[in-house]
Amino acid sequence: MAHIYDYAIIGSGLTGLSIAAALSRETKNIALIEAADVAFGANRKVNMPTGPANNGLRFVPDSVLAEKSLRFLETLLGNSVIADISEEAPITYEAGGFKTFLGFGENPPPFYEELAYLTSSKRIDLSSQPFEWTQMLFEQFKGDFMPRSYVTKFHQEGERVSHVTINGSKTLHAQNFIFAGHVKDLALLLPEEALSARAKGKLAKNTYWTALCIDFCHNKEVTASTAMHVLNGTTQDEIGPCAGRFTPATEVEGEKMQVSQWMTFISHEETDDSEVVGMALKKIKRQIKRAYPEALEGLKMERIFVSPLIAGNGDLKLSANMTIPDLENLWIACATMNEQKNLVGSLLQAEMTVASLGFKVAEAEHSARDEEATLEASI
Ligand SMILES: Cc1cc2nc3c(=O)[nH]c(=O)nc-3n(C[C@H](O)[C@H](O)[C@H](O)COP(=O)(O)OP(=O)(O)OC[C@H]3O[C@@H](n4cnc5c(N)ncnc54)[C@H](O)[C@@H]3O)c2cc1C
Repeated sequence: MAHIYDYAIIGSGLTGLSIAAALSRETKNIALIEAADVAFGANRKVNMPTGPANNGLRFVPDSVLAEKSLRFLETLLGNSVIADISEEAPITYEAGGFKTFLGFGENPPPFYEELAYLTSSKRIDLSSQPFEWTQMLFEQFKGDFMPRSYVTKFHQEGERVSHVTINGSKTLHAQNFIFAGHVKDLALLLPEEALSARAKGKLAKNTYWTALCIDFCHNKEVTASTAMHVLNGTTQDEIGPCAGRFTPATEVEGEKMQVSQWMTFISHEETDDSEVVGMALKKIKRQIKRAYPEALEGLKMERIFVSPLIAGNGDLKLSANMTIPDLENLWIACATMNEQKNLVGSLLQAEMTVASLGFKVAEAEHSARDEEATLEASI
């Protein structure tokens, strides 16, 4: 007889791993199913000449919900994640100099909301990086990790999912299924009866964004500014502005180096259009050269990558328990289902899923910031 897992989690990015780590506190009978060779999803480590770094730009705007999401992560990791809250206005390059970025005025790019997240003046400074979070969460996972396993179909028996097909041929059975991949894929993965044709159409048709990213390692300190840069150029063409940030310069074997990471967005349908992708990447470089004419000379490293389906909400109605209405044991933990975006949405969606599954994650250890606040209050 086939083994039946208590939980099958599909997707081992930050969302899936947070859930996997939380559930691992109570059971080991969990399958963590991942299409890629390794876990970690978008938040995996890349090696720069300056040391390990995030796979692209990472920025967390400060908000009550952002802090809440990071408290949940701190609880899981048993470590503080929030180092500080900083205020630093985003800047832009205009008429030969840097100025505070005040917004896009009457011509916002179509992916305005994605950029707006990055242009908050108040940010959370992190004491560990997202690529380290996913590694720590993976270490806490106690079940079976299944890499190179692409879930290609959910199968329904009555009002429950009975099993999934992996790589088109293998089957895996579980009592409960948690989907932490991309919501758009549900249109293909769910059984015929689970969603109406209209709901499927809505899921497929929604606007989704692909991130186009360039990471540089410069052979000098380009700037001491750690502010978010929003570079918009002079012409309003179809490819919109880009955002990026420099990390503080470091010395490697006596040589000054500095990393900067940049991104812009194109609509998901354009992801395979090499002309659009090429133009957008060229434009990022042009913008940087305009603002810092020597920044791209003698680069130590340049990484160009495309991250499809980074954002965009599928219009999918869930039950109050976060399951598909007619499938009571399929929890939808996709980060983009959350009203909050990005890392914050990912962690909040994971926290809500863990709670809907009936799990309680113990109170967070106090973070460094709480300790400081307590100390200040007692002085
Ligand atoms: C370049 C880049 C820059 C970003 N910058 C920021 C930022 O500055 N601030 C911020 O807050 N957020 C940022 N984000 C967003 C943030 O990283 C994501 O919101 C978060 O990582 C989402 O995590 P996830 O686990 O939901 O998805 P992912 O990390 O994408 O993981 C999903 C995993 O599921 C697997 N999977 C999907 N479908 C299946 C299937 N059918 N079968 C098996 N496995 C499957 C995938 O292979 C993948 O490993 C950025 C993301 C990228 C890519």
